[in-house]
Amino acid sequence: MWDRLLVDCRIATLEARPGDPLGIIDNGAIGIADGRIVRVGKRTELAGTRAKQVDAHDGAWVTPGLIDCHTHLVFGGNRADEHAMRRAGATYEAIAKAGGGIASTVAKTKNASDEELLEQSRARLRALMAGGCTTVEVKSGYGLDPKNELRLLGIVKALGEDEAVRIVPTLLALHALPAESQDRRAHYIGEVIDKLLPAVAKERLATSVDAYCDTIAFTLAETERLFLAATDLGFRVKLHAEQLSNRGGAKMAARYDALSADHLEHIDEAGVAAIAEAGTVAVLLPGAFYALQETKKPPIQMFRDHGVPMAVATDCNPGTSPLLSPTLAMNMACTLFGLTPEEALAGMTANAARALGLEDEIGTLAPGKAADLAVWRLESLAELGYWIGLRGPERRIFNGADS
Ligand SMILES: [Zn+2]
Repeated sequence: MWDRLLVDCRIATLEARPGDPLGIIDNGAIGIADGRIVRVGKRTELAGTRAKQVDAHDGAWVTPGLIDCHTHLVFGGNRADEHAMRRAGATYEAIAKAGGGIASTVAKTKNASDEELLEQSRARLRALMAGGCTTVEVKSGYGLDPKNELRLLGIVKALGEDEAVRIVPTLLALHALPAESQDRRAHYIGEVIDKLLPAVAKERLATSVDAYCDTIAFTLAETERLFLAATDLGFRVKLHAEQLSNRGGAKMAARYDALSADHLEHIDEAGVAAIAEAGTVAVLLPGAFYALQETKKPPIQMFRDHGVPMAVATDCNPGTSPLLSPTLAMNMACTLFGLTPEEALAGMTANAARALGLEDEIGTLAPGKAADLAVWRLESLAELGYWIGLRGPERRIFNGADS
């Protein structure tokens, strides 16, 4: 006897088949027990099975719960003032050099109490959940020094404890160089490696380490120094790469079997070939492209030609992507980058799971996986990437329970 049986629904399993990238099952049914999917198939194939609760969905679509695999959700305050400055003509680089940008959020984060940070972050998390997310990756990165980074990872952990969502914490170990370390870059990176990484590993506050490799952040050599130490400690790595310029970050990350390389507007073909070879997911962040009014798009056709899996995420952060809607990220990925609606949906489910190293647990609807589902009252799934400002799913099921 199963706990739940969902019937009379159209299912996008995201278990791709030749000619059917979404793995569609018409007139389908899903059996759930102990928070996990037991069976997925045609209603007729599941005839005779019994469950404590049977939900008929009147032809609605069921997809895996959405996965936002790249966010910076935990921060203090916001940067609406810089939004206004950019409208007056200042560039992101100029604002960063004038002490704005990440540095201003670091200060606001430091000045906020744990409770304030938790409540501000919870509001953003709930917006993503209302949009259909059942898994949200959250990076640290606004603490900069070991003590404050550990504090933020503690808040990320606390955030997940009271909400019906899977939080995946990532240590964003090299985000920005603090003003007081401008002349001591190597020393700062040494502190991160010697103090922060071992503490995070010991307390199991994150399993992945991220960095920002670009003109206004860290060099390729500095990032590699971090990756060498992080992989030695057993962390997986991921990288903000090739957002504003091509530094070869993605190619280097591929040498460390990176889970993902993120942004990638400026990646070249050698970089694409390298991440294809490593199985690294290209995480596309159209919200940042949109907010910064960038013009250089990531090379989508090149990713397709090389067979690079593409994920889509909000990159929710106070400066360059204050985006709180997963389906709007999908719409932007289609409209701004040229993804097909099927690619956008795979980008927030199956490929997003891969970008987090959780493809055995979530991202598709298959026996043994967590019963994280979204039920959408739509005519076609293409509508997920079509509406601008779509309301969330009719029903969100996390670990087998309505939420
Ligand atoms: Zn980011």
